[in-house]
Amino acid sequence: MKIQMVDLSGQYKKIKKEIDNAVIEVIESSAYINGPKVHEFQESLEKYLDVKHVIPVANGTDALQIALMGLGLKPGDEVIVPAFTYVATAEVIALLGLTPIMVDVDPDTYNLTGDILEKAITSKTKAVVPVHLFGQTADMEDIVEIAKKHNVAIVEDNAQAIGSVYTFRDGTKKQAGTIGDIGTTSFFPAKNLGAFGDAGAIFTNSDELANEMRMIANHGQSKRYYHDRIGVNSRLDSIQAAILNIKLKYLDDYAAARRKAADYYDEAFKDIAEIQTPVRSKNSTHVFHQYTMRIKNGKRDELNQFLNSRKIPNNIYYPVPLYKQEAFSHLAGAVDFLPVTDMLCKEVISLPIHTEMTEEIQKVITDAVKSFF
Ligand SMILES: *Cc1c(COP(=O)(O)O)cnc(C)c1O
Repeated sequence: MKIQMVDLSGQYKKIKKEIDNAVIEVIESSAYINGPKVHEFQESLEKYLDVKHVIPVANGTDALQIALMGLGLKPGDEVIVPAFTYVATAEVIALLGLTPIMVDVDPDTYNLTGDILEKAITSKTKAVVPVHLFGQTADMEDIVEIAKKHNVAIVEDNAQAIGSVYTFRDGTKKQAGTIGDIGTTSFFPAKNLGAFGDAGAIFTNSDELANEMRMIANHGQSKRYYHDRIGVNSRLDSIQAAILNIKLKYLDDYAAARRKAADYYDEAFKDIAEIQTPVRSKNSTHVFHQYTMRIKNGKRDELNQFLNSRKIPNNIYYPVPLYKQEAFSHLAGAVDFLPVTDMLCKEVISLPIHTEMTEEIQKVITDAVKSFF
């Protein structure tokens, strides 16, 4: 039995006919760029997310960059970002000459909170990029309240939590990525809604921001060969759109399969005091992009080696906090100590989770973990 971190080929086999037909249709149509499939997928995703505008782009990093460009920020403006995330989130901030202000996260949800945000706001703060890490939505109600109070724009990095639903105190529900001013996502193959190559999208309910970001993604062009501003070239490929449009129909089933696998792990580890299984936040569903637990006895690296020696895939997301990365060391606003982020980088470990998990596979994994403790 081969155990994998993600089983993309198993997932493909179940819907092979549908996918193959859609891909062949695009090839035969020769509408490779901005073909009808791109528009179809855009509309399906708008409906699924209940958001006014989806702007398909080439990948999740471009989506973040175009979102920040759309806000019209100026060099030196501060953008608050959690230090416990994938590099892309902070990279685009620095790339645009903005100042990333890296902050800590909550030790249970690994996400930004309203309190952490409020403490980091200065007169230069223009935006915040909460990341819905590992599959659950950050506490957006508090974040929105504080951002509004200080006139700070919100770009949600929803690369890892598409399909996660957030519930407000009055019972209103919204999809992750549709709560702030702009949301972005990635359809990198291993993400919860994965293409067969690079792909991404931006979401917003603002007509004005949508127009601006569509223009930026298309060379700053307002009408053909008339360029109003400096933009980029970031398009979703028609073949990827055709694939994504099919996989979107299964996204909720995929999330349910991931949740079921997470439940199995939770149950298997519930009596091991050294393991903190993922804490599920009260106001967000969890779509388990990763099953990331904390090893609280200082033996995370030993467990990592033990599992590797038994050929059980596992990963450390993330081993180094962003503020300690060489690439960010020279930036203004640098911090030198974020206790929760530092602790998480030493304690977290992620186990295989995907849509094709079986109890047989999970038993091998959980038996190995249990035998370590
Ligand atoms: C994957 C990811 C991105 C980048 O997406 P790409 O499509 O690989 O460019 C950005 N932010 C987070 C949190 C991610 O996990």
